Amino acid sequence: KIVVLGSLNMDTILTITQLPKPGETIKLINKNTASGGKGANQAVAAARAGGAITSFIGKIGADPAGQQLKEALIADKIDITNLTVDPQSGSGQAYVLLQENGQNSIVISGGTNDLVATADIDQAKSLIAKADFLIAQFEVPLATIDYAFAYAHSVGVKTILNPAPAKAAMPAELLRNTDLICPNETEAQAITGVTITDEESMRRADQIFNDLGCVRTIITVGEKGAFYADEVAHTSSFVPAFKVVAKDTTAAGDTFIGALAAQLNPDFSNLALAVLFANQSSALAVQKLGAQPSIPTLAEINALLNK
Ligand code: ADP
Repeated sequence: KIVVLGSLNMDTILTITQLPKPGETIKLINKNTASGGKGANQAVAAARAGGAITSFIGKIGADPAGQQLKEALIADKIDITNLTVDPQSGSGQAYVLLQENGQNSIVISGGTNDLVATADIDQAKSLIAKADFLIAQFEVPLATIDYAFAYAHSVGVKTILNPAPAKAAMPAELLRNTDLICPNETEAQAITGVTITDEESMRRADQIFNDLGCVRTIITVGEKGAFYADEVAHTSSFVPAFKVVAKDTTAAGDTFIGALAAQLNPDFSNLALAVLFANQSSALAVQKLGAQPSIPTLAEINALLNK
């Protein structure tokens, strides 16, 4: 069982040749909308990759975007008992500027994501207590994540933190209550201060995460792949990414984390295999446009892994 605490955003994807310079006006090539938000994407990725039961804790507004975001979770058989509607704000929105080379720049309006509160965690305690993993990212308030992880830790539920978007400061307790931290290179750098260049720098960053109280690390480095280290099992390695032509890297990290959680044993004993699986899953996602539309199913991932 996987519980994701996080955001939902309606994505408006504006495809452009390249980012306009200050003062420059450019032409739109294409406009698309798709369900997204780091939390919702990770839940969809977990559900599609075989995460037996995936539940979602979050908030939508009383608007058409909220309805669409909710329906997207239902379509992937995600349990939405703890998805609440809050009419105080609009649903989260993301404006994705997608360049033809596949790189993206994103502007976000948090909306109801910013209203996810500790009271919502109190409501979800029985759900969290039964989970194998509780996953969170930084698109809902830090205080809420901190509270949820403290509770999960107190009842022995394993926690996975995707510290994205990057934040340099967070409660010390949060990292001590994190069983696996999964940043990309920018986020790893923001927290540890280590400039991520090669495997050696990832090992140094991992050492700092260990010192901060988090014993397992995965650092994803885009088209290069991912590094993992488990201080408890004394294992670490760099796993290269699959060679593909990227069309849209939106949700690469989200797909990676969802797929990882879906395949990971609650004691982390198959971490290496789960990282390989997650690499394959996200390599498929970057070949398609959009966040949730690009997330592959278990059958699609296995078909490639068995080749
Ligand atoms: P984020 O989307 O959070 O920035 P990354 O860019 O590090 O995360 O990507 C996460 C994972 O997705 C990588 O570890 C890799 O497995 C996969 N991935 C990302 N970009 C590519 C790419 N161009 N080709 C193949 N795999 C990729």
